[in-house]
Amino acid sequence: MRVAVFSTKSYDREFLLSANQSEGHELVFFEPRLTPQTAKLAHDFPAICAFVNDQLDAQVLLMLARGGTKLIALRSAGFNQVDLMAAEQLGFIVTRVPAYSPHAVAEHTVGLLLALCRKLHKAYLRVREGNFSLEGLLGVDLFGRTVGVVGTGKIGTLVAQILAGFGCKILAYDVRANPAVEALGGRYVPAEELFSSSDIVTLHCPLMPDTYHFINEEALARMKRGVILVNTSRGALIDTRAVVRALKSGKIGALGLDVYEEEADLFFQDLSTRVIQDDVFTRLLTFPNVIITAHQAFFTRDALEAIARETLANITDYEQGRAPRGLLTPAQALAAAR
Ligand code: NAD
Repeated sequence: MRVAVFSTKSYDREFLLSANQSEGHELVFFEPRLTPQTAKLAHDFPAICAFVNDQLDAQVLLMLARGGTKLIALRSAGFNQVDLMAAEQLGFIVTRVPAYSPHAVAEHTVGLLLALCRKLHKAYLRVREGNFSLEGLLGVDLFGRTVGVVGTGKIGTLVAQILAGFGCKILAYDVRANPAVEALGGRYVPAEELFSSSDIVTLHCPLMPDTYHFINEEALARMKRGVILVNTSRGALIDTRAVVRALKSGKIGALGLDVYEEEADLFFQDLSTRVIQDDVFTRLLTFPNVIITAHQAFFTRDALEAIARETLANITDYEQGRAPRGLLTPAQALAAAR
């Protein structure tokens, strides 16, 4: 099948071409993000392959439908970038890769947390400059700390497992309890109690209308002074302006982000010679107790192999008239959240 692959980076090309040796699709790689300006590139392609910051709103979907596209194969687990109702109305089949390597994201989350707790980002730079002083590097143990895990699906549960191994106490909040978390001694509590009782809060629920700005002024007001907040899920789970205020007041003791609500204009590009126009993001970069990675949590060899394999398998399933294993309908999206 002819597939227009958007937001292509060298690594996408490498892993998709390797996995395609056994699938035999005609992959045409486009570097730009899918937007109303670039959607015409997909003209006459029956399938497109898209990533997390591609724009699949009603306007772009209509352009794709008029161009003859029938299949949207996401090479991501999250699907907040797609207007699924519009896609269904226009007759699209949408697929995703629900679980490629939850370990990759969970391990990156714990990596951010460890770096924040022991100020490894500061220590790394200091030692390279011949400064071996420990002043200002005082850390905290993870052992014995209470961690609030928001969203205990595949990734959140792994994070809970890893941190239980460090000797952390686990509190959890989800719309449904996961027995695997309870088996670790994790306790499900209302969000308000999770906020007020946790030393560390880590976010692993999907971005949906009811989780938009889940961490807002009110949630932050309930949290302990000096709380460590980590978000490797989706940027808009956090009201970034409220978080900046909480960092300035010392309410948040440290912040680890792999995602940012306006990341589409920043991440996955080399902007090192440009002036960044986003003042909220640049303010975040000024804090000594903030570590930001640019949506890299998924980025392991294991995950990219699985993403490529599963994305192409979804396309093959569709081409051969089978229900793709990663089929995503509005009803399934709702079921995933309930
Ligand atoms: P999952 O579907 O296995 O788990 C999501 C969990 O969130 C489920 O248990 C669900 O019940 C829960 N949930 C739904 N609505 C909720 C609500 N309102 N409040 C609390 N919990 C709620 O998903 P997953 O594979 O664990 O992935 C979690 C998220 O991680 C994805 O939605 C995606 O946005 C993000 N992600 C990020 C990266 C990255 O590279 N940074 C990579 C993959 C996934």
